[in-house]
Amino acid sequence: MQTALYNSREIVTMKHVKSLSVSILIALLATGSIVLMVFLVKGRSGEGSGGFHSPTYFAMDTTLEITVQGRDEKLARQDVEAALQLVRKVESYTSRFKKGSDVWLINEKAGSLPVKVHPETLAIVERSLELSGQTGGAFDVTVAPVVELWGFYDQKYRVPAQQEIDTTRALVDFRNVVVDHAGGTVMLAKAGVEIDLGGVAKGYATGAVCGLLRERGVKSGLVNFGGAVGAIGLRSDEKPWVVGIKSPRGAPEGLLGELKVSNAYVSSSGDYERFFIEDGKRYCHIFDPATGRQPTEVMSVTVVGPESMNADILSTALFVLGPQKGQELLSKLEGYEAVFVDSSGKVELSKGMSGYVIEMKEHV
Ligand code: ADP
Ligand code: MG
Repeated sequence: MQTALYNSREIVTMKHVKSLSVSILIALLATGSIVLMVFLVKGRSGEGSGGFHSPTYFAMDTTLEITVQGRDEKLARQDVEAALQLVRKVESYTSRFKKGSDVWLINEKAGSLPVKVHPETLAIVERSLELSGQTGGAFDVTVAPVVELWGFYDQKYRVPAQQEIDTTRALVDFRNVVVDHAGGTVMLAKAGVEIDLGGVAKGYATGAVCGLLRERGVKSGLVNFGGAVGAIGLRSDEKPWVVGIKSPRGAPEGLLGELKVSNAYVSSSGDYERFFIEDGKRYCHIFDPATGRQPTEVMSVTVVGPESMNADILSTALFVLGPQKGQELLSKLEGYEAVFVDSSGKVELSKGMSGYVIEMKEHV
């Protein structure tokens, strides 16, 4: 039995970027060359690449980078510092591993007591439940016991037996999450039920950071939080921000395409980000709550839309639903568009996606 572990949350070094076009290479050099699931490309001939680029911070198990343009550098540094503090705060509430965090307490008290949580946690849980309903349960924060069973928490990856999957899957149901909005509490109805906000917390944090930066007077900025991207205004050259989408296969630096965005959020979910391979088969960190197994229809999904948490939740949900059901869902939601890469590598765009596309491959 062959098990190999991959985790693409790593810094893309210079030697990795050599196959990119020269212009993108220049842009990456200008930003410090840190790239995750979603590439930030500042401009193809250097336009708009000025401003203040934060260092790469590690938070919520991924990397965070912020660019602020059109602002005095001292102020921009303070903006980034304030943003980082906010992210650390959200991380401390939502981590399922940190003893005493909201999520840790909710899981600890499953089946026994409601837990008074911070407003941020409440907002994340409430939005998650709302979208669980709208996605027919494709997005479900109670998927945690399944994620655990497959070894994604302790990194002891394994393919469980069907019987174990069935037993564990019986614990997964977002209806077991009981929220008292007025009282600010969350309770899990049954012992053994657990939540994991990993599919939404980064999206929440990205939206909150963009909100904070706007409040502080930032008119032009870009936040890249490990695959959740928020674009504030236009670049200082008055052009939209350019966000590159990483190809789910091929060289780690491969680009699937580029999107132009302004005052919008972009979120990607893919099977290339966190996965293990056993007996030649790939097993990723996103699960279909209905089967307790990895969805099989797509390799990656990228969502663009006006609200950050929704974009993050939808990228995970559409990964589970696949292109056909995913497109049906998108047609009912206003303002959200997606790029699907199906399991054969074919790229499929939702109806209004072309408005964001600068260029996009048809196949990986
Ligand atoms: P990432 O966090 O890696 O960018 P996603 O936003 O798609 O990718 O979130 C994946 C994470 O969400 C997983 O690590 C797991 O903790 C959790 N998760 C997996 N499947 C689901 C699901 N169907 N619904 C909600 N959360 C999920
Ligand atoms: Mg997500």
